[in-house]
Amino acid sequence: MTLAVCPGSFDPIHNGHVEIITRATKIFSEGVIVAVAHNPQKKFSIPLQERVELVSEVFSWLDGVTVEPLETGLLAEFARSRGAAAILKGLRDEKDFLYEAPMATMNRNLAGVETVFLAGDPKHGHLSSSLIREVASLGGDVDDYLPRAVQRHLAQHPLARA
Ligand code: ADP
Repeated sequence: MTLAVCPGSFDPIHNGHVEIITRATKIFSEGVIVAVAHNPQKKFSIPLQERVELVSEVFSWLDGVTVEPLETGLLAEFARSRGAAAILKGLRDEKDFLYEAPMATMNRNLAGVETVFLAGDPKHGHLSSSLIREVASLGGDVDDYLPRAVQRHLAQHPLARA
């Protein structure tokens, strides 16, 4: 296979994301573009530029990963414009699949872009950025679930309580 786009909010990137993207680089010979969602209508805890910088730092050691902001618009068009053969999604459980499957069909119909699902490692199955934000904002220790760059960032910029 060739090039994939892995979209997400990455607010913040956590070990579940890292595991999926790292595995994907072994499958996609031209690499993975991590597309960091930007939507002026939506409130993120970490600003876009910082999310992009954090994802870039986390993967600085790994060839084949590039990082781009994903402006509001059709993901299928973004993927097509980059010459990507596939959209990459990680699945935690059947709920993720039920949510993702209609979008996969829609993106294939819109732009002929396939979606490739990788089953996440169960050890990260309880991880979501929203749960990490909630626990961290209440003072809980979430370091075990985060890459070092994100641990450092959150130590310097604690998340406000939701
Ligand atoms: P989250 O769901 O953690 O807020 P995103 O919206 O940024 O994360 O999701 C980006 C992609 O990463 C999606 O395909 C999502 O299914 C996947 N993903 C998120 N968390 C995990 C995990 N723990 N294991 C496998 N895939 C995951």
